[in-house]
Amino acid sequence: MDYKQKIAGLKKDLNAVLLVHNYQRPEIQDVADYLGDSLGLSIEASKTDKETIVFCGVNFMAETAAILNPDKLVLHPEPDAKCPMAEMIDAAGLRKYKSEHPDAKVVAYVNTTADVKAEADVCCTSANAVKVCQNIEDKEIIFVPDTNLGLYVMRFVKDKKIHLWPGYCHTHRDISKGEIEELLGLHPKAEVLAHPECVPEIIDMADFVGSTEGIVRYVRNSSKHEFIVATEKEMCYRLKKENPNKEFYPPASALCPNMKKITVEKVLQAMERKIYPVKIDERIRERAYEPIKRMLEFTK
Ligand code: SF4
Repeated sequence: MDYKQKIAGLKKDLNAVLLVHNYQRPEIQDVADYLGDSLGLSIEASKTDKETIVFCGVNFMAETAAILNPDKLVLHPEPDAKCPMAEMIDAAGLRKYKSEHPDAKVVAYVNTTADVKAEADVCCTSANAVKVCQNIEDKEIIFVPDTNLGLYVMRFVKDKKIHLWPGYCHTHRDISKGEIEELLGLHPKAEVLAHPECVPEIIDMADFVGSTEGIVRYVRNSSKHEFIVATEKEMCYRLKKENPNKEFYPPASALCPNMKKITVEKVLQAMERKIYPVKIDERIRERAYEPIKRMLEFTK
C-alpha cells in the first residue's frame, strides 16, 4: 500500500482533515484536503466538521487551528517545525511595547504564538493585513512582528501612525535584488511576483504582490507565461501543477527549512499514534480566540 492510500485510510479511521500550507513538501501537498495560505487554512480550520485536524505547517498555524477548535484533536506531526519570525516576539515584550504606545491598537500577524495573540486586538495574515489596518478606526497601530509586511501595509495606510516590531522572515528577507535581476536577465519576459514579507526593494520590482493564495489566483488569471516567484520555492510546485503550460522560477535562496521538517513519515506516525496533540492553556486560548475571530469577520 502506498503512502497516499495509508493516509486516506487513517483519515477515515480518525475522521480527520489534512490541512497543508503551500510551502510544504510536494508529496505532502499531494495528500492535502485543503492546500492554502495562513488565511485560507484558518478559515478551513474554523469550518471543518471533522473530529481531528492534522496540520502540516509550522507551529503557529497548528496553534491557530487549535485556538479555533477547542473540542477537536489537532495534531502537529513535528512540534519542532517552528517559525523563527514567530519566535522573535513574546508576550512580555509586546506588553512592554504596548505600555510605550498606550493609545495604539495591536495588529498581530498570525505568525505569532498564542501568548502573543492573546495580547492583540486583531490578527491579520499577509492576505488581509492592509484591509485589517484600514478598518481600524484608531489612529495608532502597533504592528507585530514582521517589519516588512508592516512597511508594505504603510504604503496603503497613510492616515495612521504605525509602530513596527523588528521581526522578519529570513526566507523572504534573504531574497536579494541581485538574485531577481539575475533571473530577469535569464527570463526577460517573466513577471515578478512577490510575497509582502520580502524587503521593500523586492516589492518595488514586483508586478504583483500578494499572499501565496493571492499569487495562485494571479497566475491562474494571467495571460503571461513566465513568472519569477519571490517566495518560498515549494510554492512553484503547486503553481506548476495547476498551470502546466506556464513556467515558474524561484530564487535559489528561498527555502524555509522549518516547513520542510514535516515529512510523509512524520505525518503517518502522527496519524497512527495520534501525536503530537496541540495543547493551549484555556485562559490563553480564550483571549487568543478574540483577535482571530475579529480577523475572520473582516474577511467575510
Ligand atoms: S517562510 Fe518565513 S514566515 Fe513562513 S514559516 Fe518559514 S520562517 Fe516563518
